[in-house]
Amino acid sequence: MSARILVVDDIEANVKLLEARLTAEYYEVLTASDGPTALALAASEKPDIVLLDVMMPGMDGFEVCRRLKDDPITRHIPVVLVTALDGRSDRITGLEAGADEFLTKPIDDVMLFARVRSLTRLKQVLDELRAREASGRRIGVIAGAAARLGGTGGRVLVLDDNERQAQRLMAELSIEHRPVAETDPEKAHMTARGPVDLIVVNATARGFDGLRFAANIRSDEATRHLPILAIVDPDERHRLVKALEIGVNDILTKPIDPQEMAARARTQIRRKRYTDFLRDNLDHSLELAVTDQLTGLHNRRYMEGQLGALVKRAMLGGDPVSALMIDIDHFKKINDNFGHDIGDEVLREFAVRLASNVRAIDLPCRYGGEEFTVIMPGARLQDAERVAERIRLHVAGSPFRVSGGELLTVTISIGVSSTSGEGDTPEMLLKRADEAVYEAKAAGRNRVIARAA
Ligand code: GH3
Ligand code: MG
Ligand code: MG
Repeated sequence: MSARILVVDDIEANVKLLEARLTAEYYEVLTASDGPTALALAASEKPDIVLLDVMMPGMDGFEVCRRLKDDPITRHIPVVLVTALDGRSDRITGLEAGADEFLTKPIDDVMLFARVRSLTRLKQVLDELRAREASGRRIGVIAGAAARLGGTGGRVLVLDDNERQAQRLMAELSIEHRPVAETDPEKAHMTARGPVDLIVVNATARGFDGLRFAANIRSDEATRHLPILAIVDPDERHRLVKALEIGVNDILTKPIDPQEMAARARTQIRRKRYTDFLRDNLDHSLELAVTDQLTGLHNRRYMEGQLGALVKRAMLGGDPVSALMIDIDHFKKINDNFGHDIGDEVLREFAVRLASNVRAIDLPCRYGGEEFTVIMPGARLQDAERVAERIRLHVAGSPFRVSGGELLTVTISIGVSSTSGEGDTPEMLLKRADEAVYEAKAAGRNRVIARAA
């Protein structure tokens, strides 16, 4: 899993060293030696991760970080701050500035690659969500709304069998979150399936294996998106690396600094809310992508995707597929006489009648304007013709009641086609149905015409 990493440090030798190590592991490296250059590169090159030195003359790393996180263009890029070894206050300032991770100088290779790998993974998830969302200007709205998502008031689950430590964690977390404590991993897992924003697990517990718990959380569909903050012993490097490999989101080393924990908890909760937000919006935008907004029927794009697969299957010897092309008669007159809004009401009422007169496996769709299609898997031409006739009668048979109490008589013309023989395509199928509609119009409207291939 490769990534593009922007390395920012005012000391040339540091840049060269990191560049060499990262390049050796097949990462692509961009470099900058001051804050303004780093900001410009981050915006234009969109790296996957920024490795940012704190101590720089002019604009320091905190300020660069703050600006990266303030800009909707660069906000989602994970930032790793590189601090001095004993830089406790640096870490807290950094977390407040929105940094995602820390590395202390001199940079340890194991930690460097562990952090880079876990952030690359996070970035890929975010990118995928953002890419699917990015179709359109809504991304701006979403970025704006996401910026308002805070990192406080979270529901935090603490799993620890060390009573004294758990009490200290709970006391600190209670200041701005709503923590619950568990001592048993199985009970904790059940709790995690409920509304939880963050799990803090003691990976040095005596009574259970905290890493196994973390792995179980990751493999359970219901809990796999939850951020996990693991408490580890800084001397147990193997477990520390293991924790990151399992997919723990962040590490707290003992002895726990309460303020650092609070800041890390906030970062994780904010990030979770952001991904939840993107995910929810994605579900919504996927729905938008396949539904027609006026009628709630499937839209043309969705229909074409389904039809493609069904015709292909039919051509490989599977069940036939039929298509109805439906056009409302003299619809323009309805608009002209009663107004566009009434026209819309007629379209909606028609959609209801259409949907209630086809089988569950049929796909009624709005093809565009006042044209509709029904895709009928498994139906032969005669079956489809019978359904079309039923729909026609159901529309012409009783007038449409619209706002104002007016009753409108509406009729439709329907063309029917069905796959047959070899080499049929979705386009040809729809074209035959469309030609049949023209015939129906020419023959006086309010009728069904089926057209064999
Ligand atoms: P024909 O019997 O030959 O089909 O006549 P028609 O008037 O139905 O056909 P034509 O294609 O000339 O006009 C269709 C009209 O449908 C024109 C357009 O303004 C209107 N229309 C298309 N989409 C909508 C919509 O979403 N709402 C409303 N109210 N009208 C629409
Ligand atoms: Mg038309
Ligand atoms: Mg029409």
